[in-house]
Amino acid sequence: MLSTRLAQIASFVPEQARLADIGSDHAYLPVYLASNGKIDYAIAGEIAQGPLQAATSQIKKYGFTHKIIPRLADGLAAIQVEDQIDTIIIAGMGGLLTKRILTEGQSEGFLSNKERLILQPNNHEQLLRHWLATNHYQIYDEKIIEDHGKIYEIIVALPKKEIDYTLKELYFGPVLMEKKSAVFQKKWQKILQTKQKVLMNLKNAQYPPEDKIGKIKKEIIWIKEVLE
Ligand code: SAM
Repeated sequence: MLSTRLAQIASFVPEQARLADIGSDHAYLPVYLASNGKIDYAIAGEIAQGPLQAATSQIKKYGFTHKIIPRLADGLAAIQVEDQIDTIIIAGMGGLLTKRILTEGQSEGFLSNKERLILQPNNHEQLLRHWLATNHYQIYDEKIIEDHGKIYEIIVALPKKEIDYTLKELYFGPVLMEKKSAVFQKKWQKILQTKQKVLMNLKNAQYPPEDKIGKIKKEIIWIKEVLE
């Protein structure tokens, strides 16, 4: 059984997608999508031998060696032009690593700027939204979910020439702040409490750092506004 997190990520993959699952580990996601007849072709990219072996075994076990190709590579280097990939998933890694994979992939020519990106960073979501906006991707869907007590955000983006996001939209997620789901409110209530504590400590410091205080005050105002 696929985890709630992976099942939610899978729900954003379009029918008949040609998928690259980067950092595929056991290839659970492409095998699940192929089992459900949703995809005809996938690359399961892996940088490490162990997970690549696990992916290869999983693909064999379910009889998808003709549809899912395990490939040892760093990031988007797993993608070859002949694959005609139209959907890229990078899930379950830190936001910094995800950003590095996208940046290098783009500068090395592995992105054709047509692909749908489905990103699920474990942290630093804001950093990725800034990368997307700077690199002309529109965030056309987002979801925030809770799985085994952990909160995850899924960001779905497509290339677009004109991108115009406010800093506040990139901070909370343009779609997430519109939807304001219960999980979104739970996440930001918790962050609000933490920031209020940090602000108090900063104010009580012997030499209160005015720049940090100003930044955190602005964040607290934003969070309160979005939670209203
Ligand atoms: N994507 C799966 C998920 O969401 O459950 C697996 C996530 S697992 C925590 C991260 C996987 O990414 C590991 O198997 C790791 O070897 C792989 N990985 C890390 N850096 C990578 C890179 N630069 N290129 C490809 N795979 C990478």
